[in-house]
This record gives sequence, C-alpha cells and structure tokens, in this order.
Amino acid sequence: MANLNNGPVCINHHDRPAVAHCASCRRPICEECLVEQDGFKCCSKKCLQQALASTAVTNDVIKRRNRAGSLGAVASFIKWIVIIAVLAGIWFSGLGPKWLRWLMRKKDQTVQTVQQKAQEGVQKDSDRRKRQGDFYDSVADPKR
Ligand SMILES: [Zn+2]
Ligand SMILES: [Zn+2]
Repeated sequence: MANLNNGPVCINHHDRPAVAHCASCRRPICEECLVEQDGFKCCSKKCLQQALASTAVTNDVIKRRNRAGSLGAVASFIKWIVIIAVLAGIWFSGLGPKWLRWLMRKKDQTVQTVQQKAQEGVQKDSDRRKRQGDFYDSVADPKR
C-alpha cells in the first residue's frame, strides 16, 4: 500500500491521508473516520467519550475551585460571626455596661444642661417681660 505524500495516513485506511489527530489518542485519522463533537476530533466514539470525560473532569475541577471560593466566603462570614461574638462577650463580661453607664452619665449631663439652659431661658424671658411690663405700665399709666 502506498504511503500518500509520505505524510500521516489514517489508522484505519492506510491509503488515505490523515486530516486530523485524535484528540484522545493522538493517532492520525482520515475525514471518514473522524468523529467530531464539541470541537473534539477523535478516531472513535470511545476516544471521543474519553476526551469529553477529561473535559468533564476539568470542568469538575473548575467547579470544585468555585466551590472552594464560596467556602472562602463562608469562612469569612464565620470569621465575622466570631468577631461579633467576641464583641458581645466583651459587652456582657462587664466592659459593655461600663460603656452603657458612661453613656447614661453623658445623657444625664446633657439633660441637666438642657434643663439648666431652659430654666435660664425662662428666667430671662420672665425678666424681659417684667421689664417690658414696667415699660408698658409707665407708658399706659401717665400718673406714674
Ligand atoms: Zn483515538
Ligand atoms: Zn479512515
């Protein structure tokens, strides 16, 4: 049998030039023997399935990697829960109430200041009214 152009020939047809190499076993194949699917060119259905399976494995690895990424997200979520739990622990262990007391004291001071200011305001207001009253009295009553 003649070897066409001395190039690669089909593994099944030694008188036909190979148009591709099997994606799985790398053997040369002619156009007729070519089995093609999803961009894979193979010598047989068996090789095609192997090629597809290897892609499936690759996809699986990618999927698993993605899952690892979401696991990382879960891990950071857990980290936050731990941080919050620690903060809550600090709060309930006595440091928190101290803050609370400080806040309450601050609030009381503010309330006292506001009440003081309000009293001062009332005082000033009544003073002003008194002065105005005196003025009006003196105007309204010419006898004075
Ligand atoms: Zn093959
Ligand atoms: Zn062939």
